[in-house]
Amino acid sequence: MPKELCKCGQVLYLGEIPNPVEWQIISDVEFDRYTGQIDAEMLYADTKPMLVCPHCHRLLVYWQGFSNGYTAYRQEE
Ligand SMILES: [Zn+2]
Repeated sequence: MPKELCKCGQVLYLGEIPNPVEWQIISDVEFDRYTGQIDAEMLYADTKPMLVCPHCHRLLVYWQGFSNGYTAYRQEE
């Protein structure tokens, strides 16, 4: 199963569908293009995947898709 290693050492698995640690994010500008009934597959294509580490709560955002690595955001103390 594909996996990602968080900077805290937690392994995050990517293969589970639906994935409990994965979120799909979309900008308000992109989302505003949708009206009425929405095709879930079209909406999914406009989202960016984000993982939430269950251990340290970092957000791992794949701005350019899974194949191009993530940017990690850590909670402030
Ligand atoms: Zn972590």
